[in-house]
Amino acid sequence: MKDKAYSIISGGMDSTLATFLAKKKYSQIVALFIDWGQKSVDEEWIAVQEICALLEINEIERIEVPIDKWDKSSLTQGDRKEVDDNFMVPERNLVFISLAASYARANGGGCLIVGFNKDDGGYDTSREFVDQINVFFEKGTKELSCYNGTYLRGTKITLEAPLLGYDKKKIAEELKANDLYNLTYTCYAAKGPCGKCRACKKREASFTSYGSKGPT
Ligand SMILES: [Zn+2]
Repeated sequence: MKDKAYSIISGGMDSTLATFLAKKKYSQIVALFIDWGQKSVDEEWIAVQEICALLEINEIERIEVPIDKWDKSSLTQGDRKEVDDNFMVPERNLVFISLAASYARANGGGCLIVGFNKDDGGYDTSREFVDQINVFFEKGTKELSCYNGTYLRGTKITLEAPLLGYDKKKIAEELKANDLYNLTYTCYAAKGPCGKCRACKKREASFTSYGSKGPT
């Protein structure tokens, strides 16, 4: 079994399954929950704690970064119970990975886990993106090996996206098969599911694609 992994988990379907798979592969998992001012932060935080309890993950770090201070998307601005199609948050994945990398590097290094999958779309969830981040980490690791005396010397970090070959339907099926589905929280809005936001629609579609309506 490999050593240590840091899973960026929001309590949604993708990051929950990625964390579940990482738990089988790594001897130690640290769950990293990011509070970035999103409307659904309270619901996500509850989901993460319940999921970690079921998976017997005891180390949960809640990291705050005030993206809502500059973001103008519907995920942070306006009525907390409503989210419209203005859902793009600037460089969200890059910020999350950077925070996780900093945390991991300071804590002895290890593998970062993300839930990117086939149904995400976009460069910052692609295999190419993951590969390029890994090149960046490798170069940083090499450079650190040149410095004596720093506690960061010898640390190595990598990024792993175990769901790159999964679509939403497969993710939903795996979650259900492992009693995790009902613990996840998907909606972008507070007090969801709203049934209208992009996240709710994708969750719904993961079931209708094989003919049955799943629990919300
Ligand atoms: Zn919703």
